[in-house]
Amino acid sequence: MTDRIFEAQNKAISLLKEKGLDSGAVRFVLEHVTQKSHAALLSDQREQLTEEQQSTFWNKIDELLDGKPVQYVLGTESFYGRQFIVNENVLIPRPETEELIYGALERSRTLFANKTLTMADIGTGSGAIAITFKKEWAEAIVTATDISKEALAVAKRNAEQLGAEITFKEGNMTDPIKNTTWDVILSNPPYIACVEAESMSETVLAFEPHGALFADEDGLFFYRKLAENLPTLMNKPALIGLEIGHQQGPAVHKLFTDAFPNAKVETVKDINGKNRLLFCEINE
Ligand code: SAM
Ligand code: GLN
Repeated sequence: MTDRIFEAQNKAISLLKEKGLDSGAVRFVLEHVTQKSHAALLSDQREQLTEEQQSTFWNKIDELLDGKPVQYVLGTESFYGRQFIVNENVLIPRPETEELIYGALERSRTLFANKTLTMADIGTGSGAIAITFKKEWAEAIVTATDISKEALAVAKRNAEQLGAEITFKEGNMTDPIKNTTWDVILSNPPYIACVEAESMSETVLAFEPHGALFADEDGLFFYRKLAENLPTLMNKPALIGLEIGHQQGPAVHKLFTDAFPNAKVETVKDINGKNRLLFCEINE
């Protein structure tokens, strides 16, 4: 005899709570397993799960009990109002990265009006930045790169599913995009200093790809490389937009004012009041 929806839900919630884990995810697992909306689940609480639904439900709850983030358990995350496929080869896209895109679009409107522009996203992961930019700026000619083949495979599926025409290139940092010059370059590179691992959430550490998170030189390695390599790759005008760690504002600001002495370089705080973005506007 299988459980009714409310019985399965209550059991799963109490098991997760016992382990100090977020039980809010149970509802999403139930929606996924039963293919019902939240409203339908509420009105069908006494309906029985089928054998198959019950077994899928408990497999997924077991994964949550192991600490796996719900986004990997369900294989999806919402970003800028669209659903992206995610798996353990890509970083789960974060809300602060939505702010990077928002800020880049706003500045691009001033710098480029509505013209066709070329844009590259370095270290695209799930494709979140490149695909969103393309969906929001249809005239943009967008390239996305990553050093990870596995990540690029996920990004390609997302571009297909969301109907975004993007050129994908595999390779190290600016190597795959260095044969031409660009109007806009955006990147959310790995920026966590290796020593910070101790204070990080166990779910992030155990499940998210370390190659997407950690960087040498106190987390500044990729910014130093970008500041070194981007000056010869930018058009005039051009915009560079980077996500940064909240303690990296002054250091990354200095790297970019040294590399682009005539540019307008600004660090921007995220919605939580922390330094999170850096924009570099090159006009002459
Ligand atoms: N852009 C995605 C986002 O914002 O959700 C993913 C960002 S994740 C923090 C960094 C990405 O950079 C990962 O997908 C990782 O594979 C990629 N990466 C790491 N080292 C790289 C390198 N040397 N060259 C290119 N990409 C790299
Ligand atoms: N914002 C991510 C985190 O705190 C880090 C992403 C990155 O290194 N670019 O887990």
